[in-house]
Amino acid sequence: MRNQEKKSLLRRLPQVDELLRAEVGSELQKEYPRRIVVEAIQRTLEDTRERVLASNSSFQPEEILGTPYLSERIREQARSLNRRSLCPLINATGVILHTNLGRALLAEEAREDLSEIATRYCNLEFDLDQGVRGNRYSHVEELLCRLTGAESAVVVNNNAGAVLLTLNTLASGKEVIVSRGELVEIGGSFRIPEVMRGSGALLLEVGTTNKTHLKDYQQAISEKTGLLLKVHRSNFQMLGFTSEVSLTELVELGREKGIPVMEDLGSGCLIELSSYGLPGEPTVPEIVKSGVEVVSFSGDKLLGGPQAGIILGRKESLDRIKANPIHRALRIDKLTLSALESTLRLYLDKETALNKIPTLRLLTTPLNVIHQRAKRLLRRLKKKFSSLLEIELVDTLSQVGGGAFPSANLPSKALVLKPRDLSVEELDRRLRGSDVPVIGRLSEDRLLLDLRTVQDNELKSIEKTLESIFLMEDSRG
Ligand SMILES: *Cc1c(COP(=O)(O)O)cnc(C)c1O
Repeated sequence: MRNQEKKSLLRRLPQVDELLRAEVGSELQKEYPRRIVVEAIQRTLEDTRERVLASNSSFQPEEILGTPYLSERIREQARSLNRRSLCPLINATGVILHTNLGRALLAEEAREDLSEIATRYCNLEFDLDQGVRGNRYSHVEELLCRLTGAESAVVVNNNAGAVLLTLNTLASGKEVIVSRGELVEIGGSFRIPEVMRGSGALLLEVGTTNKTHLKDYQQAISEKTGLLLKVHRSNFQMLGFTSEVSLTELVELGREKGIPVMEDLGSGCLIELSSYGLPGEPTVPEIVKSGVEVVSFSGDKLLGGPQAGIILGRKESLDRIKANPIHRALRIDKLTLSALESTLRLYLDKETALNKIPTLRLLTTPLNVIHQRAKRLLRRLKKKFSSLLEIELVDTLSQVGGGAFPSANLPSKALVLKPRDLSVEELDRRLRGSDVPVIGRLSEDRLLLDLRTVQDNELKSIEKTLESIFLMEDSRG
């Protein structure tokens, strides 16, 4: 197409107003806010102009000016502009606590309580007995102490905040002694040395990457020492020629020298899970019992609640933490508080916790239940897609994720999908782009759907998504 022709074609493109009044515009305005429709039209026209101007464009004028071309694209644009940004999806990665996919799922009980608290007034900071101002943390503090044996508890926005607040309160301007083997980074933005700097405490590293001995701590202690910090190696393990100082030894040393000990536990578990094949990690009650001054962990990791940072420990230190102005800056809202209280209440009975808290349920799902689920999906998919996809049921390993049990591999079952006329990358991209996105695990030239983290009522949705990818291709042009 010559320039002259292109220009004349561009002049004949309809105006925004015209399209708004046309059938496509008026129909879409019944479905979407007007500003979404206007923007969809503007973007489509811009895009069309660019395509016409592209030097190698081989468009026929009729093709572009014909209503079907523009209407179809405007509809598609409007749909995509109107889609909510934060949306539910299907986690077929097999990673139970996936930070990018929202970590813990709330229990149904927590969801119900939370939705009621969200839409009604509540006694967030109101003492119903006395009729005076109350304390927002009172709704969970006693419960946390009852469940863990701690003297006192504080809750903040997340565990990074909990560590920051505790260090700032107990060790600002003082040295905090940490083993070189525990200077961890969690998910990119949380690095112990950086949080330490932010808190005003001075990091004093001891030991080496692979070995730290009690004498390393002993020799580093001086009148400048404010705290001995132990950090849980949440997302990696050290093998080979290694040694570390146990929390008990550290607590003993701290007691001897009059220096408080803190453990950043990361993913705190309230109940023993070793009978479910998870390598024995100390539970929160055990750590409290060991005599630490303070221990902190996340609300949305193994605990299975909302995002929060929970600080437990001795009353004297916790009183100082509560009085720190930074505490106010990290405070949690009523929705978090409600979800946290509901989740904690489920822990009052261990069986109830295991049955009702999704994180614990997913962790302890028997392999045969996952196998049944995989077989069901396999049957459904084979019936419809066997000419388009190679589908196979395989053994795989799920992960806990979220900085818990880094060495645990949970036996699971997955479906492997291999499209015949599509690359797996393209299949993965389309699954991610569908109305209810499905996130699988790409490995070599295969896409795995691990059924441990997929709920039974999501199987139908996976099937529908594949239908829209493979069986309705023609209608999508
Ligand atoms: C996850 C983790 C954190 C950060 O917790 P958030 O709740 O994500 O802020 C800090 N320390 C350790 C050891 C962790 O595992």
